[in-house]
Amino acid sequence: MKRRDFVTSALGAAAAASVPYTKASASDISANTLKGESTVLTKAELKELGDSLRGKLLLPSSDGYDQARKIWNGMWNDKRPALVARCSGIKDVLNAVEFARTHDLLVALRGGGHSISGKSICEGGMVIDMSPMDGVHVDPFAKTARVEPGVLLGALDQASQHFGLATTAGVVSHTGAAGLTLGGGIGRLQRKHGLTIDNLISADVITPDGRFLRASQEDNEDLFWGLRGGGGNFGIVTSFEYQLHKVGPKVLNVSFMYPISDAKDVLNFYFDFNMNAPDDLYIGAGLVIPPGEPGFAMISGCYFGDFEEGERLLEPLRKFGKPMFSNIGPIDYVDLQSRNDRNNEHGHYYYAKSGFFTDIETAVIDNAVERFAGTSSRRTLLLISPFGGAVGRVAEDATAFSHRDTQYQIEISSGWENAALSDGNVQWCRNYWEALDPFTSGGFYVNFVVDQGQQQVNENYRGNFDRLVALKNKYDPTNFLRLNANIEPTV
Ligand SMILES: Cc1cc2nc3c(=O)[nH]c(=O)nc-3n(C[C@H](O)[C@H](O)[C@H](O)COP(=O)(O)OP(=O)(O)OC[C@H]3O[C@@H](n4cnc5c(N)ncnc54)[C@H](O)[C@@H]3O)c2cc1C
Repeated sequence: MKRRDFVTSALGAAAAASVPYTKASASDISANTLKGESTVLTKAELKELGDSLRGKLLLPSSDGYDQARKIWNGMWNDKRPALVARCSGIKDVLNAVEFARTHDLLVALRGGGHSISGKSICEGGMVIDMSPMDGVHVDPFAKTARVEPGVLLGALDQASQHFGLATTAGVVSHTGAAGLTLGGGIGRLQRKHGLTIDNLISADVITPDGRFLRASQEDNEDLFWGLRGGGGNFGIVTSFEYQLHKVGPKVLNVSFMYPISDAKDVLNFYFDFNMNAPDDLYIGAGLVIPPGEPGFAMISGCYFGDFEEGERLLEPLRKFGKPMFSNIGPIDYVDLQSRNDRNNEHGHYYYAKSGFFTDIETAVIDNAVERFAGTSSRRTLLLISPFGGAVGRVAEDATAFSHRDTQYQIEISSGWENAALSDGNVQWCRNYWEALDPFTSGGFYVNFVVDQGQQQVNENYRGNFDRLVALKNKYDPTNFLRLNANIEPTV
């Protein structure tokens, strides 16, 4: 690549001069291409790329490389990319994309690094790492937030809640906003305000051919449609603009734990109770077995409306069963949003399967409870998230996320610390999921794509698939962005 092909700036050059990009530029390296072949990146080419970045270019022998190649799920920590471009801004991303395209490199995009299936890291390719781009700007007057692609949900929630505002965001605060948003965005506010994508106002996007576009209802509307549920298939988003809503700062916390032996009764009660829930009520349920413990069943969530009204609505839950622990009371929304963090530690080994359900047959509950089993060395979880409400009031073809008829998402997952247990724990999850899978709508959340085949991925986009393929043909005909729930181009 020629020096003039890079977007440079005085600021970028000055910063590059003061931050040596890598000591590893002493030799050529080999890297994997999109076609799965090997190519050589010369010392001069790498130096040119490194000089063009305000952030750092890391090669396998660079300080910080091992840290930079690790993502949340330890299952993927043996992957060794040929190079990691730690991007500090839009120009860095543009330069990294240009370099990758010129050399036809296999590329992984990293935002918050929480891809369960390890899509934000790759073997022998190039990681475009946007985690250093972590700026959040909240406009309390317009009730909007603009975030960069490395922002974690906790930062978005905290900055928004400073003004008593929030948008739908996931339930673990160290998850990245970028990947979560592009897949849909499931969270406690979804029944009231829709998925995260239903609150996306605009996105700034670098296309695989290096253009910088704004996508919104007014600009590049087709791209905007595809970004909302198309899972990072069409471009690299450098900024997300969200609609915020008045939330909290205190909401009504709902937290009940029951002996695992009551699990069937708890789940039966939960599904009946939740059937008539208003949009302000977000109540999930689950089964949890911490390592070596007997485990428990739970019903938990929150109420966003008037507290007295919430207490009244929750009365049947208060009267149900014999909980080991119960709480209905005020909690800061930001505290609620980070409550699950400690059970989802970075670097542990995880495996998960999930699916969407339009109704719940008795057999789902029976299978879920009877086949649920823990061990002394893994954390085992079944989690039920309620949909409906505002999520279901959006048309199936209004965004790329087509599963608007979903009533529940059920996710099963395992987490463990000893790599030697991986095969057994993964197999246990797969076997358990076999008992639940026949009852799904056939659909699953693209952000939980794990080991589904291409046909299953295609079918999961349902009636939106053909339009998504046309969009892929238009914006990414070479399938530059393929480490995702991939939509394969047909041109
Ligand atoms: C502990 C945990 C809790 C979770 N909880 C929830 C939840 O409550 N709700 C929910 O909806 N999901 C949840 N998820 C799933 C989550 O949405 C996905 O894992 C998501 O991909 C994480 O985004 P990230 O930026 O951290 O991911 P990364 O691993 O950085 O990226 C994942 C993928 O997103 C795409 N991507 C990332 N950044 C960009 C970008 N700037 N431009 C284009 N594409 C990009 C790429 O395809 C990339 O491979 C959870 C995951 C974990 C691990």
